[in-house]
Amino acid sequence: MGGTFDPVHHGHLVSASEVMESFSLDEVIFVPTGEQPFKEHRRVTPAEHRYLMTVVATASNPRFTVSRMEIDRPGKSYTIDTLRELKRQLPGADLFFITGADVLPQILTWKDADELWSLAHFIGVTRPGHTLDRTGLPETGLSLLEVPAMAISSTDCRARVVDGKPVWYLVPDGVVQYIAKHGLYRPETARVDDVAERRGRAANEGTTARTALPPRAVGAGQ
Ligand code: NAP
Repeated sequence: MGGTFDPVHHGHLVSASEVMESFSLDEVIFVPTGEQPFKEHRRVTPAEHRYLMTVVATASNPRFTVSRMEIDRPGKSYTIDTLRELKRQLPGADLFFITGADVLPQILTWKDADELWSLAHFIGVTRPGHTLDRTGLPETGLSLLEVPAMAISSTDCRARVVDGKPVWYLVPDGVVQYIAKHGLYRPETARVDDVAERRGRAANEGTTARTALPPRAVGAGQ
């Protein structure tokens, strides 16, 4: 299961569990991205924090593990490299690559896209009401699964912390505590895109946010 996991939330965990059940998988390996090729200009929480939050979140499930392969591999994290490495580590295994359905239309632009389909079956987890434009995507080798719990999003979790709102029950308890202990997603460290999203939401709701927004310059250039 590939993702940025910034932070990992219950939507990811329910998705992994649902896919495991629907596709009769033996285990799910969570692979937090190291350096995502399309996020060079966006600020992402350091990989070690995202990795540790994912370890905390999955610790109680013996069929969930977390791999450091992308965060330890130098350079950009390409899914093709991850799948090739997993094939080497698990010879004979049938691999399934689980991720958000929003990501799938971009797959055609990923490194060695033609080879991806021969290494794994792709499963896109959709949020309720999401429709996927399958233009250019293959007829086989790709499945979608709607998971109502994916109404939770990492973006919203981060924005709630910026707002001083609780994230209890959206993310596992240990992750709530990890975020607090390390001061992640606080207004003073918030990502520019999260602040922009919050400003947008406040404008749409026609409300004035109760807590002070950090200046627009916070995180600039990340
Ligand atoms: P993202 O842009 O952070 O996320 C896009 C959408 O998909 C968000 O709505 C996100 O929700 C959802 N999502 C992401 N991972 C998910 C998961 N595991 N389960 C359910 N929903 C998920 O996407 P990303 O995390 O950067 O990339 C997703 C995967 O694609 C990663 O494994 C990444 O390495 C891979 N990727 C590979 C290439 C390449 O090889 N060239 C390029 C881009 C991405 P949340 O924010 O709530 O998670």
